[in-house]
Amino acid sequence: MMNNKVPQDILDALTRVKMPGPVSLRESTGIYDLNDRKVTTYTCEALVLGSGAAGLRAAIELKRRNIDVIVASTSLFGGTSACSGSDKQTLHTAGTNNRGDDFVKLAKDIGSGGGMDLDTAYIEGTGSLYAFSSLQYMGLPLPQDRFSTVLRYQTDHDEVGRATSCGPRTSRLMVKVLCEEAIRLNVEFLKGWTGVRILKKEVNGIEQAYGIIGISRVDDTNEYGLSVVLSDNLILATGGPGELYRDSVYPKNCFGSLGMALEAGIDASNLTESQFGIGTRRTEFPWNLSGTYVQVIPYIYSVDDEGKEHNFLADYYRTTQELASNVFRKGYQWPFHAHRMLDYGSSLVDLAIFNESRKGRTILMDFNRNPEAVPGDKPFSLDELDEDVRAYLENNDALQEMPIDRLRQMNPLAIELYKMHGNNIAEDPLPFNVNNQHMNGGVEVDVWSRSSLKNCYAIGEVAGTHGVTRPGGAALNAGQVFGMRCADHIGSKENTSPKFREIGHFQYEISKAFAELDSAVENDSGIPVEELRDEVQARMSDKAGFICQKDEVIQALTEAQSLNAKVHSEGLTIKSAVNASSYFQWQQTAITSEAVLTALNYYVSHGGGSRGARAMCSNKGELAPSTRLGELNEFSFLEQQAVDKTQKIIVNYSSESSEFKTHNQPIRSMEDPDKIYFEKNWSNYLAEEIYKDDYVTPDVPPLQS
Ligand SMILES: Cc1cc2nc3c(=O)[nH]c(=O)nc-3n(C[C@H](O)[C@H](O)[C@H](O)COP(=O)(O)OP(=O)(O)OC[C@H]3O[C@@H](n4cnc5c(N)ncnc54)[C@H](O)[C@@H]3O)c2cc1C
Repeated sequence: MMNNKVPQDILDALTRVKMPGPVSLRESTGIYDLNDRKVTTYTCEALVLGSGAAGLRAAIELKRRNIDVIVASTSLFGGTSACSGSDKQTLHTAGTNNRGDDFVKLAKDIGSGGGMDLDTAYIEGTGSLYAFSSLQYMGLPLPQDRFSTVLRYQTDHDEVGRATSCGPRTSRLMVKVLCEEAIRLNVEFLKGWTGVRILKKEVNGIEQAYGIIGISRVDDTNEYGLSVVLSDNLILATGGPGELYRDSVYPKNCFGSLGMALEAGIDASNLTESQFGIGTRRTEFPWNLSGTYVQVIPYIYSVDDEGKEHNFLADYYRTTQELASNVFRKGYQWPFHAHRMLDYGSSLVDLAIFNESRKGRTILMDFNRNPEAVPGDKPFSLDELDEDVRAYLENNDALQEMPIDRLRQMNPLAIELYKMHGNNIAEDPLPFNVNNQHMNGGVEVDVWSRSSLKNCYAIGEVAGTHGVTRPGGAALNAGQVFGMRCADHIGSKENTSPKFREIGHFQYEISKAFAELDSAVENDSGIPVEELRDEVQARMSDKAGFICQKDEVIQALTEAQSLNAKVHSEGLTIKSAVNASSYFQWQQTAITSEAVLTALNYYVSHGGGSRGARAMCSNKGELAPSTRLGELNEFSFLEQQAVDKTQKIIVNYSSESSEFKTHNQPIRSMEDPDKIYFEKNWSNYLAEEIYKDDYVTPDVPPLQS
C-alpha cells in the first residue's frame, strides 16, 4: 500500500522518468551506388530491430557475448515499453517470497487459457529469475520488504500473487536501466531508422534472412532515407501492431513489424488473440485504467450530444452494491472476458461501455463522485459493498468518503501520472473507453525465439508466445527472457563467414523498394494512406474487437481482401518523400489486418467460440448476459471448444500469390524436468548440443498433464 506521506520528489522520480543518453551511433560501412541512387549501408553480426525493453535486453546480452550488434529503432524511447503503463504497471515473475515457486505449476498457470506452448511457458518461468534479478542489479527499483524480498500482489489471470511493480511506469524504468547498461557496454544504435523490408536469400534450399531495408529519418543520401543493414542475424523486437485498431490504448505510431514478417513469408500464430480493456483514449493520453483507478470506485457515466448525463451502469446491475463492487473488480479483472459478463460480473461494465459508445456518447470516470444509485435502490455506501471489496478497502485504510481521497491514500502516483499529461483527475472527470491493448499472437517462434525464417528471431510483443490469456506482467517478462534466449542461441553459432555482406546481392529488392516509393509519391489515383488507415482501423474495432459477431467475420475478411487487392492494383499514395516509412507501414498493416481476419475466420468456421478477451456472439450462442432490464440476446455467445486449447492457428502469407494459408498446430509439450539429471546432461550443455535444431533432452519422458 502506498500512502500520501511519500515525498513529492520520490513520486516524481517514478513518474517523470528521465531517459539516459547519449547513445553511441553506428558508422556506416559505405555508400553504395545503385543506378542513379546512393544507399548507405551498415553491416553487423546481429541487428536488433526496436529499442523497447525486449530489444534492449537482447542487445546487451548479445554485446556481452562479444557479438557485433546494432540496435536500429524508429524511436529510441518510443513504443509501448517506454510510453505505456497503468496504475501499477506489472512485471510477472516466479514467486520469490516465502515458499518460492513450482515452475511446472507456474508454466501451467501461465498457459492456462490454452493455445500456449508448455515449453515456452516453463522457460518464461525459470528464465524470469535471471531476468528479474539482473534488472534489479541494473538498478530497477522493485519495492522490497526489510528482508530484501520483493513485494508481490495478485493480478489478472494470476491466482498465486506473482506480480510486482515499480509504479505506473515499470516498463519505462526497465527501458531506462537497460539503456544505461547498453550505454555502459557501448552498444551502437541507428536512431530514427525504421526497418521496412526483410532481405532474404535461398541457400541450399533454405531461405535465410540476411538483413533489412530501412528508412532513416536522418540520412539524406537519397530522398527517402532508404538505407540497408546487412546482418547475419535479425532480431525483430518491434512491439505489437498498435495501429491496427481505432479504439486502442497503444501509444501513437506503434506499427511493429508483424506485417513485414508476414510479407516475408514468416509464419505467425495465435493472431486471433488480443487483450482489450478500459483505458484512456489515444486521442488524449493512452493509459490503462486498471488497479486502483477502479478499486477506488469512481462514478462511471456517459454524456450525450446535448450534454445530458446518463448513469448507464444502473441499467445493467441490479443493486448499487453490485454495481459498485463490479467497478472495483475491474481493478484485477481488467481484460474483458466473455464469462465475466454472466452473473452480473465485472465484464458487464465493458459491455455497457460498448453499447453506450455505439449511441455516440462519451464515457467518463469521475473521482469526485461516488457511483449514483441504481433506480429504486439505496444510495452508494462504503458499508454496503461485497465482502471482498469492503475488506480490500479496509485493509488499505482506504475508506475515505470520496474516490479521489481513496486514490490519494492507495496510489498517489496514479493521480500524479495524469497530472503530468494535462489531466487533473482531482478536479475533472476522465474520458475513456474499452481499447485494444496487446496482441498475444504474433510471429511463430521456437524455444530460442527463432522464427520460421532462418536467422530471423522475434522477441517481445511481436512474438506470438502468449497463448489465449496471459497473466498481467507476463508480456514484459517474456520480452526479457526471450531477449536472453535469442542472444544465447546466436552466441552458440559457429562463426561461419557471412555470405551476403555485399549489398550487390540485393540490387533487385532495393530497386523495387525505390520504384514503389517513386510511384507512391507520384500516384494521384492511388489510395491515400490516411484513407487506408481509417478503413482498416474501423473494421478491426467494429468487427474483430472484444465483441465480435460470428456471422460478420466472413464479410469483414472479404472487405479486407478487397482492400488489399485494391492496394495491389491501384497502389498507395503518400504526400511526399519524407513519409516513405508510412508507405510500407500502412501497406503492411493492411496485410496484418487481413491475416488477423483470416485466422479469425478459420477459427469460427471450425467451431471456435468465446475465449481470451473476445466474446464470439451468435444467435446460436448458448449463454447470454443478463441485466437489470432483461437478457441481452444480441450478445448471446458461443463457448470455447476444448480442442482449441490444445492448438495454435498458424497463418502464412505468400506475397507472390497474395494468399494466406492457415492450419492448426498442436501446442508443444516438454520433457519432464524432474527427469533431466545433472551428470547425464552436463556434456550436452558443454558441447552446445542443446542449441541444435530439434534437440530434445534424450531419454526423458514427456511431462504428464
Ligand atoms: C497501456 C498499456 C499497458 C500495459 N501494461 C502492461 C503491464 O502492466 N505488464 C505487462 O507485462 N505488459 C503490459 N503492456 C504490454 C507491454 O507494455 C508490451 O507488450 C511491451 O512493452 C512490448 O515491449 P517490446 O520491447 O516488445 O516493444 P516496444 O516497447 O513497443 O518497443 C518497440 C520498439 O520498436 C521500435 N520499432 C517498431 N517498429 C519498428 C521498425 N519497423 N523498425 C525499427 N524499429 C521499430 C519502436 O520505436 C520501439 O522502440 C501494456 C501495454 C499497454 C499499451
